[in-house]
Amino acid sequence: MAYIITQLCTDCVDMGCVEVCPVECIYQLADEPTPERPNMLYIHPTECINCGACEPECPWEAIYEDMEMPAALKSDIELNALTEERPSLFKVAEMQRDEHGRLIHKPAPGSDAIAANKAKWGLSG
Ligand code: SF4
Ligand code: SF4
Repeated sequence: MAYIITQLCTDCVDMGCVEVCPVECIYQLADEPTPERPNMLYIHPTECINCGACEPECPWEAIYEDMEMPAALKSDIELNALTEERPSLFKVAEMQRDEHGRLIHKPAPGSDAIAANKAKWGLSG
């Protein structure tokens, strides 16, 4: 079992999940995104220790346990598995810092934006 980052993360990538992951098993693309590998973060399925710390930290509600994936997002399990199958395409995700070394956090989205993002990916509520 592992947690999965879904395409609800696409183009958000605020890294809140990275900040709390105790085992650095969350990855970003090593190169530019493609239609097959969108601009999002990915959880390595066997490095993840299933602690659940990342899920409540995600402001876009983009993280699910693999056993609880909504049907509309099931294919994202395979997307995350790419970190194990094609490791050269990824690097460990790193938080952005400002010139003083402080972690940079994006503003949290409002409930309307969260709902609109879910609807875009075929989820309701
Ligand atoms: S916190 Fe959520 S939206 Fe932000 S990078 Fe992590 S998975 Fe993506
Ligand atoms: S469940 Fe825990 S180990 Fe797995 S990605 Fe989330 S924070 Fe990291």
